[in-house]
Amino acid sequence: MDKTQDKLTRRNFLRTTTRGVCAAGLGALALTAARGKGVSMRRMVWQIDPTKCTACGNCATHCVLTESAVKCAHDFSKCGRCNFCFGYYKSGSSGAKSHAGVEFQLCPTHAFVRKHVVEDSYEYTIDIDKCTGCGICVKGCKEGNGSLFLQVDQDRCMNCNECTIATACPAQAFVRRPADDPYWLQQRPEAKS
Ligand code: SF4
Ligand code: SF4
Ligand code: SF4
Repeated sequence: MDKTQDKLTRRNFLRTTTRGVCAAGLGALALTAARGKGVSMRRMVWQIDPTKCTACGNCATHCVLTESAVKCAHDFSKCGRCNFCFGYYKSGSSGAKSHAGVEFQLCPTHAFVRKHVVEDSYEYTIDIDKCTGCGICVKGCKEGNGSLFLQVDQDRCMNCNECTIATACPAQAFVRRPADDPYWLQQRPEAKS
């Protein structure tokens, strides 16, 4: 390498390094300024506030993904394990034990699964791979204990800047939550079993 080339290479190196140091310095300054103003630097993700959601059905049809990122979740601590579950059976189909056929089930994809536990007690779980996030069972359960609710599955969600469901939500139920605490029950919506 001749002297002129060597000089140019050093100059380029210094220029690149100086730019890098300046960028890092500006980044650190921005971080300090944001912290000073009390601005949180935690990454935020989209989630549904179950206290606002009316289970309107838009979650199943307005996601950018072909299969919606919204799934049904179950608060097992609230569930009455009822024989006649308002989220499982169509209203009017009384005598659940004798009406166990699929024609009496509310869930259109049979993602809501019923398992007999003991006497009049049943366990209800959700197969999230089959769940479309339609909210039909959630609406039904509102007449019962309200233990079913919809949540954005963070393993599926693309965390779009503009969530198309949030825009279409008539209840303004979509909120931003910290990525390290994204669920209402601190868990991903999935079947308990
Ligand atoms: S949200 Fe819809 S698809 Fe999912 S479990 Fe409930 S009824 Fe079935
Ligand atoms: S952020 Fe995007 S991927 Fe996630 S629920 Fe909304 S539309 Fe679907
Ligand atoms: S669009 Fe809003 S109100 Fe409708 S099911 Fe989704 S979160 Fe609930």
